[in-house]
Order: sequence, then C-alpha cells, then structure tokens
Amino acid sequence: MIEARGLTVDYPRGRRAGRSAGPAFDRALDGLDLSLPRGSSLAVVGPSGCGKSTLLYAIAGLVPAAGGSLHVDDRPPAERSGTALVFQDYGLFPWKTALQNVELGCRGGSRAGKEAQDRRSRGADRDRALSLLEHFGVGHGADKYPAELSGGERQRTAIARALAAEPDLLLLDEPSSSLDALSKESFQRAVLGLCSHSDSPKNLTVVLVTHDIEEAVFLGSSVAVMERGRIRAVLDNPLFGDPSLRERLEYYEFCLGVRRLLEGEP
Ligand code: ADP
Repeated sequence: MIEARGLTVDYPRGRRAGRSAGPAFDRALDGLDLSLPRGSSLAVVGPSGCGKSTLLYAIAGLVPAAGGSLHVDDRPPAERSGTALVFQDYGLFPWKTALQNVELGCRGGSRAGKEAQDRRSRGADRDRALSLLEHFGVGHGADKYPAELSGGERQRTAIARALAAEPDLLLLDEPSSSLDALSKESFQRAVLGLCSHSDSPKNLTVVLVTHDIEEAVFLGSSVAVMERGRIRAVLDNPLFGDPSLRERLEYYEFCLGVRRLLEGEP
C-alpha cells in the first residue's frame, strides 16, 4: 500500500542574518525506503528529529518529496483520498462539542467519506458519530467541548473523528505522548482493536509514530527504527495482536531488541 524509494524531503531554511551560507534547506528525510502492505500496522520509532513526523506528513501528502518516490496505492499521496492523519495536538475544533467534531469527520475529508456521506442523512451522521464516540469510551462526553475532556478523551475523540471519514489509511503522530499511564493503556487497547482489525474494516492500514518503544511493540505488526532521515531496520513483530502482551516476558525481550537497535547496536 505504501512504497517509498529513496525518498528525500527538505524544509526550506530561514534566511536570517549570518545564515546565508550553506544549503537553503534542512534535509528531514534522506533516501528513505519503505514498503508497507495493506492491512498492516507499522510503528515508527527513532530519536527526536530523525524525521518520524516528516515521514507521516509525506505519506499524508502534506509535504512534497524533493527526491525519490512515494506512492500510496500506486498514487502520489496528495492525489489520493482515504488517508486520515491525527496530529499530536489532536486538531479538534475547540468551539465544537466532541459529537460535532466527529460529525464533521463524517462529512469532510476523503472522497470515500463524502460518498459515504451522500448515502447517509445528517441524522444518520449523528448516530454514527455517537456510536464511534461510544466505541471509544467517550459517549458520556459527546456534548462536552474539548477543553472539558481529559487528554485521553480528547485523543480518543480525535481518532473517532478520523475514522468517521472511513479512511483506509490512518496515520497517528505520537498518539499517546500527553497521556498519563492509565489513560495511555486504555487508549492503546482501543487502537490495538483498530490495528488488529477486531474493531475495524479488514483493509485499514495504520502507521503510527512514537518515541515509546513499548507502545510501538504493542501496536505495530512491524516496527521501523529510524535514524537521520532513513529507516535503519524494520522488525516483524510476532507478538502483535495480544491485548495481554504486557504480561508476557517475550514482550519486554522484543522491546529490548528494539532499544538496542535504537542505541546503534548492530
Ligand atoms: P521527529 O518527528 O523524528 O522528531 P521531524 O520529522 O519533526 O522529526 O523533524 C525532522 C527534521 O526536520 C528535524 O531536523 C527538524 O528540525 C526539521 N524540521 C521539521 N519540521 C520543520 C519545518 N517545518 N521547518 C524546518 N525544519 C523542520
């Protein structure tokens, strides 16, 4: 579903006094290769600044490639519909309630979402938005504004809104970075249901960026380790899909293997 070959992404550099020498850009992705089949979930880990978010934005079609190629379903990312991105700060409209935010997801975004909306009335959108909120445990907060919800509830509302558009590719940027430990675990269980397809259509592909190794191993059917704008290794995760993974020793052993790769061991 996602194919990147030698992908390079540059950000233009500010031209402040004294910075006119050197390249006019910062290279965030530098010849990155990635191949991801439909229906899989890829967790991307790596040190801060290695290009994880940039990779997500490139897959979402928000930043252009300066070199190499990137295709999602054989198309340039910016030309396709069906991709939903949940930003780190959730991107909810503060002046709309949780329910209204998710209803917007039913209406907006992808062509698939718009076609789906044509088939449904506004009332049906409302029912669907409510059932998505209930599914993610925020039904009780449907009429609250984002500022009245906890961090975990806001994050789950943002995912519900992303799914309302019926995407086939869900991109999550540091999805649980601002949650406390218990909210994080319940959020991760909800996302695991999506990644492992017990709670989602079989063809949903998920890419999530995280700095949390345990989250990556819990949620990724494969785990990509990034460094300096490239993917250093992709590990298949045979443990993926078990909601009780945290009770298994192999989980922590796998996490240790990822940590060692991150620390630069061969
Ligand atoms: P990560 O998500 O792994 O922390 P990012 O993708 O955010 O990394 O950033 C990769 C590199 O690109 C970093 O060096 C960062 O400073 C740079 N960068 C990110 N966004 C911008 C931007 N909007 N303008 C200029 N440079 C940026």
